[in-house]
Amino acid sequence: MPIIDLYGHELLRQRLSESVDAGTLPSSLLFQGQRGIGKQRLAIWLAERLLCAGENPACGKCTACRYVRELTHPDLHWVYPRPRLKDPDPDIDQVREDYAEATAERVENSGLYAAPSGSEGIFVATVRSLVLRAAMSPAMGRRKVIIVGDAERMVPQEGADMAANAFLKLLEEPPADTTIILTSSEPGALLPTIKSRVATVRVPLVPDSAVRAFVENPVVRKALDSDSRASTNERIRLAAGAPGRLLTRRDSAKATIGARKIIDAATSPRRAVHYSAALAQGSAGARGAFTDTLEALVDLLGERTREALLRKDDIAAAAASKAVDAVLRAQTQASGNVNPQAIAAKLIRELSSTLK
Ligand SMILES: [Zn+2]
Repeated sequence: MPIIDLYGHELLRQRLSESVDAGTLPSSLLFQGQRGIGKQRLAIWLAERLLCAGENPACGKCTACRYVRELTHPDLHWVYPRPRLKDPDPDIDQVREDYAEATAERVENSGLYAAPSGSEGIFVATVRSLVLRAAMSPAMGRRKVIIVGDAERMVPQEGADMAANAFLKLLEEPPADTTIILTSSEPGALLPTIKSRVATVRVPLVPDSAVRAFVENPVVRKALDSDSRASTNERIRLAAGAPGRLLTRRDSAKATIGARKIIDAATSPRRAVHYSAALAQGSAGARGAFTDTLEALVDLLGERTREALLRKDDIAAAAASKAVDAVLRAQTQASGNVNPQAIAAKLIRELSSTLK
């Protein structure tokens, strides 16, 4: 069963196609843009374009295209954030098995999946497996494509220097038969050593017409209906150009409640409420949950901005969008080594001055 089509990004696809034909496509790319606009799906499309063995790539008819669309092509290697494996030092086979299972699950869901939770990451064993893959010859065609989704989640780990260095070298000088595509919706959190080695491609929002086609796809509709009964127009408005945002994680409800608490605290005049909301974010061990809360905050404040714009309340819209900036700064800090409580305390102070 193939995964669902890519919606939108026609101009970008045309541009990428032209550079493939001209032989000028950089070997290491970074697709950068908001969460939920289909960057990884676009990367899979580009993989199909590169691996297609038909006359008119990506023809969608040849065996290579079919395998790419079923995510079973042996020369397509797609990794993305995963929960940490129980074994603290897993070998390559364990990593590959984990991705094989996770990707099969994605295929089962027609390629629809929610954003990773805050505790999922791309760990050193995964990076090692990619470096090894890159060194091998293609199994089926003439090329290999490596996709690293949410690349900012590559976790720097102690004792991982060798793998990290090997990966940097791979980005800088991939084998001639290999294309590497990283995607990120938080490029600020991406290591500068990685960013400087890739050609950045900005991926724009998806126009409403394409979002409509996406939510009206019967497969998508069925997946969304199991979650909520919103109308197509409501969904288009909620997606705001990023249809992937409509696919929510099951535990996202908890993050949303946490995010609401932060907003309530920030808009409360009582300082004590500020402190207790900050303390509730826990210490360093709670980083995963905190990251989820911050993501939910961006969503809530984004909604606030759009609602204010609809009511033509420019002042409230500007305040909410300023608040989003503050959360984005907190996200960058949270990906570093700062304590969630300290970040939350500062964030609540900032939100209380913008949102009151
Ligand atoms: Zn083909």
